[in-house]
Amino acid sequence: MADRSSSSRTGNPDDPRSRAWVEVDAGAVRANLAHIRRAAGAAAVVPMIKANAYGLGVSNAVAVLEAEEPDGYGVATVEEGLEVRALGVERPVLVMTPSPASSLPAALEGGLTLCLSDLGSLRALAAEAARRGRGATFHMEVDTGMGRAGLDWRSAAAWGREVAALAAPPLRWGGCYTHFHSADEAAGTIDRQWARLQEAVGHLPLPAGAWVHACNSAGVLRRPRYAASAVRPGIFLYGGASAPDLPRPAPVAAVRARITLVRDVAAGSSLGYGATHVARTPERWATVAIGYGDGLPRALGNRGHALVLGRRVPLIGRTSMDVTVVEISRVPDARAGDIVTFIGSDRDEEITVEEVADRAGTINYEVLTGLTGRLPRIWQA
Ligand SMILES: *Cc1c(COP(=O)(O)O)cnc(C)c1O
Repeated sequence: MADRSSSSRTGNPDDPRSRAWVEVDAGAVRANLAHIRRAAGAAAVVPMIKANAYGLGVSNAVAVLEAEEPDGYGVATVEEGLEVRALGVERPVLVMTPSPASSLPAALEGGLTLCLSDLGSLRALAAEAARRGRGATFHMEVDTGMGRAGLDWRSAAAWGREVAALAAPPLRWGGCYTHFHSADEAAGTIDRQWARLQEAVGHLPLPAGAWVHACNSAGVLRRPRYAASAVRPGIFLYGGASAPDLPRPAPVAAVRARITLVRDVAAGSSLGYGATHVARTPERWATVAIGYGDGLPRALGNRGHALVLGRRVPLIGRTSMDVTVVEISRVPDARAGDIVTFIGSDRDEEITVEEVADRAGTINYEVLTGLTGRLPRIWQA
């Protein structure tokens, strides 16, 4: 099933016209969700599908996840929430990021659950809901140290009273939550933030059935006892490791592209913008049809590796927008048309998304969400 958001008709790896693509293993997404479910015990599971399901294609992600009957979904923006509704999803859809006031009417019409960080937004939501005669569920974010959003945990008693007063029907106070800033590190801050959330909750007049939630992927893997009412896994579902000391997910995404040219070059030949690579001896160069315009990090030039016929080869020269060159003297059988792997496995070799992120000086989240619309997403059952 090809993602409908992709306009390419040549995304099938078996089609020799396809130049570059992302393969997504739906079975691995299911396995990773099952892993999180085992860790989370009785807690509700709310997969995060923001940023086009971490770059892998939200329509296919939803198709796969719906069959697993999650308890809801998390997105970042009202627009993303409406896109999920347009896919036919009827479960709760939580908009986790503070939304501009101008997006309130659309959020109400879409039946989205807004996550709020200030009383002004709650008053605006109450007024809009009354005007439209529409019910709406909201959650309050509690700032326990992340700092980018939420109401202060120390003053929960005061703001809790005001929230409860505003939360009359048709509004429903559906829960409160916080976000860990360092769950990927084996640090004590996760425990401190959890204690702050508990202290705040002790002062909040939450209605019966309201959710309390805190854990992202790393949180639930590191502290399953903090799963509370619900967990919000993201990166782990999509094959991104949460931390070196935590269980690894099943790999989900592979980024591959085709060799379009193979050339033997003489010693002294220079390559790419800035001519940063010069052959010291005769070399064999393969030009591969993928570049930073596809989301392959430009920083991989002269640093990263790729797999050709199951062998590891270096990226040489600067990565261009549309093409990348690898040195393939070690792989004499390689020919134009062969498939090169930049993330994923080929025979016994593997390049993880974490390796790519390390070599590019970034994190796995940015590598996945940086894959551009030029690459078709090919979901494999
Ligand atoms: C993105 C996000 C998550 C998921 O985090 P991962 O590290 O990808 O598991 C959870 N909660 C909130 C509020 C988020 O923004």
